[in-house]
Amino acid sequence: MIRFDNSYARLPNEFYARVAPTPVASPRLLALNTDVARRLGLSPEWLRSSAGVEVLAGNRVPEGAEPLAQAYAGHQFGGFVPQLGDGRAVLLGEVIAPDGARFDIQLKGSGQTPFSRRGDGRAWMGPVLREYIVSEFMAAMGVPTTRALAAVATGETVWREHGLPGAVLTRVAASHIRVGTFQYFAVRGQDKALAALTDHVISRHYPTADGPLSFLEQVVARQAETVAQWMALGFIHGVMNTDNMAVSGETIDYGPCAFMDVYHPDTVFSSIDRAGRYAWAQQPQMAVWNLAQLATCLIPLMGERDTAIELATKAVHGFAPLYQDAWLRRFGAKLGLTGKAETQPLVEDLLSLMARQRADFTRVFAGLADGSARFEFSDPAPFDDWTRRWQAHSPDTNVMKHANPTRIPRNHRIEEVIAAAVADDLAPFERLFAAVTHPHDNRTEWDDLAAAPQPQEVVQQTFCGT
Ligand code: AMP
Ligand code: MG
Ligand code: MG
Repeated sequence: MIRFDNSYARLPNEFYARVAPTPVASPRLLALNTDVARRLGLSPEWLRSSAGVEVLAGNRVPEGAEPLAQAYAGHQFGGFVPQLGDGRAVLLGEVIAPDGARFDIQLKGSGQTPFSRRGDGRAWMGPVLREYIVSEFMAAMGVPTTRALAAVATGETVWREHGLPGAVLTRVAASHIRVGTFQYFAVRGQDKALAALTDHVISRHYPTADGPLSFLEQVVARQAETVAQWMALGFIHGVMNTDNMAVSGETIDYGPCAFMDVYHPDTVFSSIDRAGRYAWAQQPQMAVWNLAQLATCLIPLMGERDTAIELATKAVHGFAPLYQDAWLRRFGAKLGLTGKAETQPLVEDLLSLMARQRADFTRVFAGLADGSARFEFSDPAPFDDWTRRWQAHSPDTNVMKHANPTRIPRNHRIEEVIAAAVADDLAPFERLFAAVTHPHDNRTEWDDLAAAPQPQEVVQQTFCGT
């Protein structure tokens, strides 16, 4: 049984549309995350039972749930859309975990809602399994993120370019409130709703904030930390639209996201990101761009307008030093260095060496601890010089090992496990999941998953995969 306490459903009507998930033909559990189930205080045995699977598929609304689709707006690639909203997801409700923490339980791919526009409200197995693996890898690495509780096959065909097997992801988040949620009310001039939303988010995520300005400052600080962690893992979100940025600071909406194999700061995978707006190196600036949109929404709540603009601007500019500090900490740890003046030039020099020689991001960092990084460079001489400079600072191997995963969910591996799952073989998915959610557990049976793709395996492009 699930004990719900639905604070979002108690907000005014214009915040959402009440809508139940649309039942599916023949639900079948693909994956259940027992760690997340336990975190929430839910019984994995019950979730695996036919009654549990019916709930995870959206075929049965559990007692106490108040399913709804959240309203939000958003800037998509810089262009403003005043109404987006949950077009293929419903929030079942919120649960209070045994330790008192509140979590949203959302079904993604659960059918049409009033926000679906022309979409079918469904998802296929590919993006569901991709989000399941990548979000759980991020969690294992300590990156703030939404979690995956379960994936269910629907037994229905979803039509994209061709027919694909449908699936529903059960996503767990501190909340699904986005920058775009604020924009939805701001663009409509609904200051009362905006104030209610701000109060809700402050009490839910930022209890120490004493008003919209300190709330904004704290969101800025959390985003700086989160984005620095993305950068340190070579993660490219791919669609950092304002509707895909959670105000809680959690990474959300794993669409065309991907990790770099070969290092280059301009790397982009998403097929729709033609201008490289959300390239790896652009991510901190794009976070600032999004935070400026949030600031704009909050200005009407901040008193006298000129002063409010000045203070909000200053809060957004607070990102740069916080990000710089987080970046130095994260990349410093990757080199096993803490608080050394030489850290920044050492990181920068290593990265430019990697870019010049097209070295593999993950393998170079993971290989620093045992010296194998050298083999990632076609011309090791400049790397050897760099190593001498770096070793002079006595790097801490344990710090390094903790910061540098050996295995990440590489694109080609994800595509491989999806292809197998579509053909009814979940074993490769389960193996990749286990290997990347134990990033510091180097079992020889997982060695092949640490390899870079062969030239013919390299994935050049990812898709939104709705
Ligand atoms: P996303 O690309 O996931 O950030 O989604 C952008 C917007 O499109 C959101 O409002 C989604 O709910 C909506 N959307 C995406 N895919 C679908 C779909 N298959 N059916 C209905 N709405 C969708
Ligand atoms: Mg989205
Ligand atoms: Mg989405």
